[in-house]
Amino acid sequence: MEISTVPITMSSSIMRWPSLKRLSSPVTARTWIFDIDETLLTNIGYYRAHGYGVPISSVDFYFSLVYLGLNRLTPKAFNEWVVQGTAPAFAASLRMYNALKKLGFTIIMLTGRDEDQRSFTEANLRDVGYSGWERLILRGLDDQGKSATNYKSEQRSKLIYQGFKIHGNTGDQWSDLLGFAVADRSFKVPNPMYYIP
Ligand SMILES: [Mg+2]
Repeated sequence: MEISTVPITMSSSIMRWPSLKRLSSPVTARTWIFDIDETLLTNIGYYRAHGYGVPISSVDFYFSLVYLGLNRLTPKAFNEWVVQGTAPAFAASLRMYNALKKLGFTIIMLTGRDEDQRSFTEANLRDVGYSGWERLILRGLDDQGKSATNYKSEQRSKLIYQGFKIHGNTGDQWSDLLGFAVADRSFKVPNPMYYIP
């Protein structure tokens, strides 16, 4: 997929950027963005507990729900998992995260999780070894209803406007990486479980 073919629009909220504070180096000099779910943290425990997804037929659904006690994947069920704050780190991602920190990169996390999940998310990240990030950006009220591509592109644009030089970006979804204001280098982590446009 070519970046230029991704359908995206810039919302009117972008016009309020002059209110953002511009920062100066060295904080902004070299920045690396990480997605969280299925990039830094693995939610495989949640998927395992819910039968790895929606059953493929009504018979399967009935069987899984009644006989196996498995619930379907729902936003409510996922939120209940997030609040627990028990998602493990991907060992390779933690090594990469720490290596980038050691090289002097400013780390910013940009996630599709909602702002009201900040405290649980921060606690989970710290518990499994992540530390020293510059910012954790979550979906605020103004971001509700936006596609992941649009939301994340807007947030990257705001960072660039503030002076951050986005050298790298790592995520498990193309919507973490494509759109506008893309990083100099983008790295796609495989995710066989789901796709977010
Ligand atoms: Mg993700």
